[in-house]
Amino acid sequence: MKIEDLTWGMVESLIKKEKRAVLPLGSVEQHGKLSLGTDMILARKVALEAAEPLGVPVYPVLAYGVAPYFAAYPGTVSLKMGTYLKVVEDILESLYQSGHRKILIVNGHGGNAFAGGLAQEWLGTHEDARVRLHNWWAAPRTWERVQAAEKGSSHASWMENFPWTEVDGVAYETQKSKPPLDLEILRQKGPRAVRAFVGDGNFGGTEKRDAALMEEIWDIAVKETRDILENGWAD
Ligand SMILES: [Zn+2]
Repeated sequence: MKIEDLTWGMVESLIKKEKRAVLPLGSVEQHGKLSLGTDMILARKVALEAAEPLGVPVYPVLAYGVAPYFAAYPGTVSLKMGTYLKVVEDILESLYQSGHRKILIVNGHGGNAFAGGLAQEWLGTHEDARVRLHNWWAAPRTWERVQAAEKGSSHASWMENFPWTEVDGVAYETQKSKPPLDLEILRQKGPRAVRAFVGDGNFGGTEKRDAALMEEIWDIAVKETRDILENGWAD
């Protein structure tokens, strides 16, 4: 359930029997021919669908993430790493004060994954809490299915092209696959050089695959996330 559909009183009673909560992390950044909001849309949706049958509250997605390397692509927003850690820490602190003790962070963007280190540090002063950071697209079952369908698929390719991340009026290539970029070379470059190197924004793979495959992958991702929410906690 969405936190914005509840009152504070409902959360107060819910927390007496339900200690879990979900915090989705997104990014607003270039995604080739897909929506600039791809990572925030997917993290929010996978979190909501995973949590729905369990009755676990889902906080609004932290839309902005850390993506300095895409600064030369218009529409991209990036928080500095230090800013991001402070924001995530303040959110964790607020969730803790509300009474949540099992916090699943559903992350949709590789550049935010370093927040997992912060969570471990934060546990040092909140020993009765549990925090788990879940990179939903890179989780074993989801990643295995994606790579089995098309090896080398990456950022802004078909693997992120769902009906909810496509942009109206854009035509997507379904036949030709872009060869994967060398990410170790990419990581050495500043934003303008990254844009020159990456071009359209896709890191590798076809732009669009068939609807049945996308439904299958989405279903795996939702179930995998739900499984962690149900069974993925330390004592
Ligand atoms: Zn993405």
